[in-house]
Amino acid sequence: MIPSDCEGRVLIIEDETRVAAVLCQCLVDAGYLVTVASTGEQGLIELDHQQFDLCVLDMMLPGVGGLAVLNILRQNTATTKVIVLSARDSAEDRVLGLESGADDYVVKPFSIAEVLARIRILLRRHSFLKQETLRLADLQMDCTSREVIRGKLRIDLTPLEYAILEFLLRHQRSVVTRNMLIQNIWQGAQRMTPIDNVIDVHIARLRRKLNGAGEIQLLHTIRGVGFLLSERGGPSSSE
Ligand code: CA
Repeated sequence: MIPSDCEGRVLIIEDETRVAAVLCQCLVDAGYLVTVASTGEQGLIELDHQQFDLCVLDMMLPGVGGLAVLNILRQNTATTKVIVLSARDSAEDRVLGLESGADDYVVKPFSIAEVLARIRILLRRHSFLKQETLRLADLQMDCTSREVIRGKLRIDLTPLEYAILEFLLRHQRSVVTRNMLIQNIWQGAQRMTPIDNVIDVHIARLRRKLNGAGEIQLLHTIRGVGFLLSERGGPSSSE
């Protein structure tokens, strides 16, 4: 279980046990959940088994080197932030690291405070992305908690209604055609009922739920074209 107040999950891949131990202790004290791997191979196994928010990666590792680990990591995920540890005299490592998708680097010997500060900055930037909120008028959708609120009322949506509303919010104030919904929401799913009827049923339910929580009509049908999520209706919109 990951504690909800955890600052983030960090993987340290470092073969110098003393450096790894000091880093680990400081990160644990700062509230991070830390895993230590002492070889590139072990690091890759950890990366394969769980999702990390950030990886502190030493470039000089015996066996599978830091750069190889970074390349494999980047092939599999774009979300794990990477801070590369490089020796003072190897500018080449730093350039290669950054070119291979590292987010930052720290030169050895480093101060723990500096590493900690850089980790904080990277994860804060990262969590802003994760904590995206979509808004229109008094309607808001928290993409992390998947909570939808209109005014002060919480709106309970089925996963499908949520997906439709998210799509409409991302395309707010522009007309979303039935075809766009079919391509993006249903994506070739098996259906017994004609797709137009399915869309109409879900849109009608979504509209009822949205109307039940606020004054202004937000979800409009543009006859013969599609739908519009806006605080103002389109030219030929109907309820
Ligand atoms: Ca090393």
